Amino acid sequence: MAMVNQYVPGREGDISAADAALIKRREKLLGPAYRLFYEKPLHIVRGEGVWLYDPDGNAYLDVYNNVASVGHCHPRVVAALTKQAAILNTHTRYLHETIVDYAERLLAKFPAALQHVMFTCTGSEANDLALRIAKSYTKGTGVIVTKLAYHGLTVAISELSPSLGDYVERGPQVKLVPAPDTYRISGDVGATFAAGVKAAIAEMQKQGIKPCALLLDGIFSSDGVFLGEPGFLKEAVGAIRAAGGIYIADEVQPGFGRVGPDFWGFARHGLVPDMVTVGKPMGNGHPMAAAIMQPHIVEEFGRRSRYFNTFGGNPVSCTVGLAVLDVIEQEGLAENAGKVGTYMRDGLERLATRHEGIGDVRGAGLFLGLEFVKDRTTKEPDAETTTRIVNDLRRRKVLISATGPGANILKIRPPLVFTQEHADIFLDAMEKSLAAL
Ligand code: PMP
Repeated sequence: MAMVNQYVPGREGDISAADAALIKRREKLLGPAYRLFYEKPLHIVRGEGVWLYDPDGNAYLDVYNNVASVGHCHPRVVAALTKQAAILNTHTRYLHETIVDYAERLLAKFPAALQHVMFTCTGSEANDLALRIAKSYTKGTGVIVTKLAYHGLTVAISELSPSLGDYVERGPQVKLVPAPDTYRISGDVGATFAAGVKAAIAEMQKQGIKPCALLLDGIFSSDGVFLGEPGFLKEAVGAIRAAGGIYIADEVQPGFGRVGPDFWGFARHGLVPDMVTVGKPMGNGHPMAAAIMQPHIVEEFGRRSRYFNTFGGNPVSCTVGLAVLDVIEQEGLAENAGKVGTYMRDGLERLATRHEGIGDVRGAGLFLGLEFVKDRTTKEPDAETTTRIVNDLRRRKVLISATGPGANILKIRPPLVFTQEHADIFLDAMEKSLAAL
């Protein structure tokens, strides 16, 4: 399955000689599995706040990268990282204050029932660990994910990432359910979504597979960015728990304030997950991630097994994590995401009143989706227009990408330090790209 917004060699002629040579070197050295974005790949050498710079010093407005969530190369985060790197970097088998200081600060961001945190380096590892613990707690193996979910790259988790395509085989213990498509489901989205989950549970039980977990991206990012009404997930979560499984909230995408003052995607639903996984923005580019859980879930696992992750939770990572939380809190970035996100969404909705091709604008905070359709009645996805807009914006030095099963949904996800002025630059470029269609 082709990745949305993927570079296809030979499609665009005006790649500089230097970049063409770099593409060739990548292919030769990195092999065939890597992909680049855009019809004309982008070469980036520096980042600052919401701006990325190419080798000629051209500035690109970053409306896409959710990892550098407090802004590219935030000086406080860089200073914290370099200071600790010059003092000590070891692992979790020596006593050190930083890991407990950070664990305390991080857990304070969650509902009180979530009391333990285990550190990893990537979101994939966090989900892999969460799955192992879930299996140990439930004694089940059946896992439910949405149809186009992405949860990571390990052997176990790639099976739970159908967005990687059918080449990745899935065992019978993995059940796919339709995403809560708020644009296409007429009527009660929560009940429709829960019906899918209940059907998956029934199928497992018929096959003698014991349910283990419902693993959900809190913003259904790769499925097409769906937020739904607050509370709509409750029925589905109730169903997995009633069947003896647990609810794992994958907050790698929506977490750390992206959806606004709620701070976490699951918080919008008034739910307390059994486990949560976090990553991406946690270290603002420094590789760190974690699984967070209610104590009873990990009790047997911890008694009968041990956990060590060479790099996870090291003093440098935890220092970076503390600096990121400081910046989010002191700069009011979750509140900013709510405020600027609403402003952007209003602007996109105004564009939708003038452009028939925009079928839906949705999202919360600074995670928005905009869906292009060929016809507002049939809602047939318009991948071609989406690709043209993404690449035209790139020419206008504004960076976004696209997602969804029809490759027709703009994924709008800037660093949380995005201001109203940045939103205006983006909306103005969108207006021009739409006019140029
Ligand atoms: N979960 C979700 C929802 C993700 O979007 C991703 C990464 N795109 C992951 C997990 C895996 O994280 P990582 O790439 O850090 O392994």
